Amino acid sequence: MQFYKDGFRGGSPDIKPAAPNRRNRDINEPLPEKVDVLISGTGPAGLCLAAQLAEFPEIEVMITERMPSNIIKGKADGINTRTMEMFQAFGFADKVKRETYWVNQTAFWMPDPTNPEHIKRVGRVQDVADDSSEMPHILINQARLHELFLEVMKNSPSRLEPDYSWEVVGLTIDETTDDHPVTVTLRDASGLNWGATRTVRANYVVGCDGAHSAVRKAIGRELQGDAANQAWGVMDILANTDFPDVRQKCLISSASEGNLLILPREGGYVFRMYVALDKLRPDEKAAHRKFTQDDMIAAANRIIHPYSMDVKEVVWWSIYDIGHSITDRFDDVPEGVDRDPRVFIAGDACHTHSPKAGQGMNVSMQDTFNLGWKLVHVLQGRANPSLLRSYTQERLTEAKRLVETDHKWSRVMSAPTTQAERDGTQEPRIIRQFKDNLEFTGGTAVKYDTSYLFAASTHQALATGEEIGRRFHSAPVVRVSDAKQMQLGHVAQADARWRIYAFAAKTDSSSPGSTIHKLSDWLETNPDSPIVKHTRKGEDIDAVIDYRAVFQQTFDQLAYEHMPSLLKPKTGKLGLQDHAKVFCVDHKGVGDIFDMRGINRDKGCIVVVRPDQYVAHVLPLDGYDELTAFFAGVLK
Ligand SMILES: Cc1cc2nc3c(=O)[nH]c(=O)nc-3n(C[C@H](O)[C@H](O)[C@H](O)COP(=O)(O)OP(=O)(O)OC[C@H]3O[C@@H](n4cnc5c(N)ncnc54)[C@H](O)[C@@H]3O)c2cc1C
Repeated sequence: MQFYKDGFRGGSPDIKPAAPNRRNRDINEPLPEKVDVLISGTGPAGLCLAAQLAEFPEIEVMITERMPSNIIKGKADGINTRTMEMFQAFGFADKVKRETYWVNQTAFWMPDPTNPEHIKRVGRVQDVADDSSEMPHILINQARLHELFLEVMKNSPSRLEPDYSWEVVGLTIDETTDDHPVTVTLRDASGLNWGATRTVRANYVVGCDGAHSAVRKAIGRELQGDAANQAWGVMDILANTDFPDVRQKCLISSASEGNLLILPREGGYVFRMYVALDKLRPDEKAAHRKFTQDDMIAAANRIIHPYSMDVKEVVWWSIYDIGHSITDRFDDVPEGVDRDPRVFIAGDACHTHSPKAGQGMNVSMQDTFNLGWKLVHVLQGRANPSLLRSYTQERLTEAKRLVETDHKWSRVMSAPTTQAERDGTQEPRIIRQFKDNLEFTGGTAVKYDTSYLFAASTHQALATGEEIGRRFHSAPVVRVSDAKQMQLGHVAQADARWRIYAFAAKTDSSSPGSTIHKLSDWLETNPDSPIVKHTRKGEDIDAVIDYRAVFQQTFDQLAYEHMPSLLKPKTGKLGLQDHAKVFCVDHKGVGDIFDMRGINRDKGCIVVVRPDQYVAHVLPLDGYDELTAFFAGVLK
């Protein structure tokens, strides 16, 4: 973590200096007339977007929520490793790691073949494969997650806070103007002026308003899909039980009483149960059946027989029948029409699926992590508004894959066991499918197609483990200036900046005239360099593209004093030298980044990473022209 760049300030470094002229949010202040971005909904999707935009006080953002405050319990709880990597960029991954349950193993229980009325453990699977991510898969209550984003927003230069009790009821788009063309109608949902309406004009609107999204309806999009026709109950409880795996994630199938999913939760005592309840008729909703919490507890006790549970407190419970559905586009532009979008939908507003694979919050946040930096680039005038077209292109493909995988997983979870599985002669299909899904459920299987934002794989062989289109896979390094062991990926913050990592060839120790020197000098001074071309006068040299290098020697074999000036830039109001740009391989046995990520030791390479942490390009260290051309396609 770096701070005091613009001068020493006491207190928590998480609290950034407030920007002048920000909106007055006193209780009696009216809503603004115009904003750059209006976000509807303070679920994970909306808050993840707001937290990114809040770092840019010059962008006026409003986030509205029809409820009077943040939720306090319930809803989703699974955070996969990819989302944890993203939390690192927001600065709260360590906090999350400290207070959450880590899913290390998943246990599978099935009817005991010798006594099918009893369940028996049939297998365990390591939940996060070795080196699939440096982060754990964790479980946390959704309300707490919201608080972490709300803290980031409140401590940001914008001091952004939601406008609670304001419900979006509709919007119109004036295609004849570029001056705040979207007019949003908001209804006061508070007790005082209930029902009164106001309008706010926005340049962009993002509907993060859940499965019944008003924004989605206003732009004429529909969720298409199928109903699950199966009622599920979810319950967070404090209970005593003789079931031995209660502190492990468990998938339990009983012979005749149905299925149960156990998810241990933060704090060591509370756990969540998902119980498969009755099949529903096609025209029926789970709410029509009068299930009670006692029905759920009784069903759970029948499923875990011969074990039992004694419930001391029901923290939260809900019955639902979520199907699988998706909209055909995630923005307001009709198919075949050639214009840039103004309104977007994200999260449950554009895709719904069962919670059994634990993807709900994750995919919703990844949607807006994809959109956030694009909005920042466009609103700062760094990219053409056409950049925003890529949001639907990139996320729709991923959402389709999510819905398909979730469909398959739901079928496997509710399929009856075969005789071979029951006798133990064949590994149960549920375990096989679970193993096959691990990369998907970890969120690391996402791969975007080649486009002007993801280069072709011409030079992929230079870094086989940093695949273009997939997220940058972090690995251990040592920071040369202070010999600190750390993860290279943790230098990336949610700050809408691009990153260029130069991996030096074996013989390059950065003596003057070396390949790294030549690249650094070209990047710093050549008129064709993307850093020179796309950084504005007066901005820090790393304001748009953050350049870093990794060497193969140990830190004490490198002459820090010989490092090129671009790797020790002077930035900020005081022009202080940045000592956090030069790294080397960690030689203490935790892993060598060149070996771990398949980086060519003899030649080295350049890896270009997007602000949302996806690898956009892999190039040779002298691939100057290609580097220029790539950034020229994205940035003005
Ligand atoms: C009751 C319930 C239980 C769930 N349980 C689980 C679970 O057990 N496991 C799991 O993985 N997932 C669960 N989910 C789904 C999971 O919570 C979502 O996938 C995830 O929260 C999606 O995030 P989101 O930001 O897209 O939408 P949401 O979290 O739904 O957030 C939408 C927000 O928009 C607000 N809003 C809605 N309409 C308007 C409007 N017109 N104007 C302003 N604000 C509006 C809502 O009040 C809400 O705060 C559950 C969802 C619900 C509703």
